[in-house]
Amino acid sequence: QLIFLDGEYVSKENAVISVYDHGFLYGDGVFEGIRAYNGNVFRLEEHLVRLYDSAKSILLDVPYTKEEMADIVVETLRRNNLTDAYIRLVVSRGVGNLGLDPFTCKRPSVIIIAEALSLFPKELYDSGIEIVTVASRRNRSDVLSPKVKSLNYLNNILVKIEAGLAGVPEALMLNDQGYVAEGSADNVFIIRDNKILTPPGYVGALEGITRNAIIEVAKEKGYDMQEAVFTRHDVYVADEVFLTGTAAEVIAVVKVDGRIIGDGKPGSVTQELLQSFRMLVQEDGVK
Ligand code: PLP
Repeated sequence: QLIFLDGEYVSKENAVISVYDHGFLYGDGVFEGIRAYNGNVFRLEEHLVRLYDSAKSILLDVPYTKEEMADIVVETLRRNNLTDAYIRLVVSRGVGNLGLDPFTCKRPSVIIIAEALSLFPKELYDSGIEIVTVASRRNRSDVLSPKVKSLNYLNNILVKIEAGLAGVPEALMLNDQGYVAEGSADNVFIIRDNKILTPPGYVGALEGITRNAIIEVAKEKGYDMQEAVFTRHDVYVADEVFLTGTAAEVIAVVKVDGRIIGDGKPGSVTQELLQSFRMLVQEDGVK
């Protein structure tokens, strides 16, 4: 496996960064998770826009243009002989001194790792998953925008810990006002009477690339698709619930906090959207 690290392709063993990198010391940096299907990098442009916007927001200068970065992503896949892969792109503040002052960091570090990955086993896509809501809250949108996909994932890690302790693979975070925000690394959708809802970004949801693709697909199929604020109650009484994310794709949720959703099986709309998404990723991407 070859990993892109600051301009070079190095083996996994040699892909190491300094302990003085502020990405490591302070979670100071941004990242993207991207998927390639059948040799196409799905929505690479959108991922790069989000990455560069996130970087700009935290005053981090990515040392490559978007076009150069796109080429590096594709080249990393090529060098690893991968056509179907999960790609992790990290831009950290880089090496500085021990203090947290980012101005001591001379050059951001850029890392691209590509490997074959599947987040959940296939059975879970057929059966749907059980989730819980947790005490950890999404950070307030006015402090650090949820649009920034930063390396500071402690909130999300706490969500994963709470999910793990509850014996389920994923959990939902609420925002500080108690509205449903998102999962630890995925967006949430609920369906009732064929009306599909997902929380708007300002509630505290990352504007997921998969989320946006599903919104498009749902609208194309003529569904009443809206961004709306909702509570746990709305999730409990939904006909269908599903999560979306680059790693998760589209996965049905069949139980939330012990409440069975619909008839306890992945619903028909969720299945239809998953199928459309799987078709979309095969045709829509950068070669
Ligand atoms: N929400 C969070 C907090 C995430 O980290 C992710 C994963 O990237 C998502 C949602 C889903 O976004 P996307 O579909 O772009 O992967």
